[in-house]
Amino acid sequence: MRLLIVEDEPKTAALLGTALKQEGFEVAWAEDGIKGLEEAIRGGFDLLLVDIMLPGLDGLGLVRELRARGHATPVIMLSARGEVEQRVEGLDAGADDYLPKPFAMSELMARVRSLFRRNSQQKAMVHSIGDLTFDQATRETRRGGKRIELSTRESLLLECLFRAEGSVVSRRDIISAVWEYDFDPGSNLVEVYIRRLRDKIDREASPSLIQTVRGLGYALRLHP
Ligand code: CA
Repeated sequence: MRLLIVEDEPKTAALLGTALKQEGFEVAWAEDGIKGLEEAIRGGFDLLLVDIMLPGLDGLGLVRELRARGHATPVIMLSARGEVEQRVEGLDAGADDYLPKPFAMSELMARVRSLFRRNSQQKAMVHSIGDLTFDQATRETRRGGKRIELSTRESLLLECLFRAEGSVVSRRDIISAVWEYDFDPGSNLVEVYIRRLRDKIDREASPSLIQTVRGLGYALRLHP
């Protein structure tokens, strides 16, 4: 778990750093907004703690720029200005949480942990392979950023393949997951739906992700 602190007051940064390291986090520190943005864009952080009042680029600007560039790293804003207005401004800019200074270290830790939990749950709901993504909750499917409309059965089929994490799924398991039949109806139902799904996700993109494993079933993976 890597965390970046963007804070211009060395004392506060050191205090935060010590507390977070004790909790088991790996901590990096940037002392102004521009360095903070560069570090955050370079990536690899699971969470950012960003002060609002910073030299160079302020915390709100940092978060706005980060989000504008498509980075979704969770952000907690810290500020001496505890007013509702700043809080709203911070959240509008794309922060996930906001903590007015001074704060109790225990409260910060509780928020950090809760944000981590929320984020890892969300990650678990979104499957991806190569440039194909599938959100299990909303059923939203994209390949190369382009949205793909799937029918209910097609999305159940895709979900079933994703859940196997690259392993081969048999016809029988597909039938049970997609149609909830506990028998093989003996038709070419699975083949028909595999073809439909391929038409939508593989036809205009490469590499092909849905692979036929002769005699065994199908797998969703980048390489045979
Ligand atoms: Ca400051």
